[in-house]
Amino acid sequence: MSFRSSEKVAKNLFMASNRKVASLIEKKRKILKEIDDLQNNCEHLNKVVKSIKENEDSSTFVVRCVCEGCGKTIGIPTQQEIKKYLNGF
Ligand SMILES: [Zn+2]
Repeated sequence: MSFRSSEKVAKNLFMASNRKVASLIEKKRKILKEIDDLQNNCEHLNKVVKSIKENEDSSTFVVRCVCEGCGKTIGIPTQQEIKKYLNGF
């Protein structure tokens, strides 16, 4: 394989993964939008205290009030609620 054609192969591979990533990002955007719509239409009637990741990239867990129906974080529990969550009663 000449230098030129291997360069071309590398470029084609780059273009293929570039397109794949672009389409995955587009899918992710649509999925996040769908989750957002569901959460916005939810009345958050079933509040539960849960430990969840602080954010998607974080390995830190925090205790939050989460809607059991849609999974949205709807608030920070009170000291009382945290105690109850940690002790199980
Ligand atoms: Zn909800």
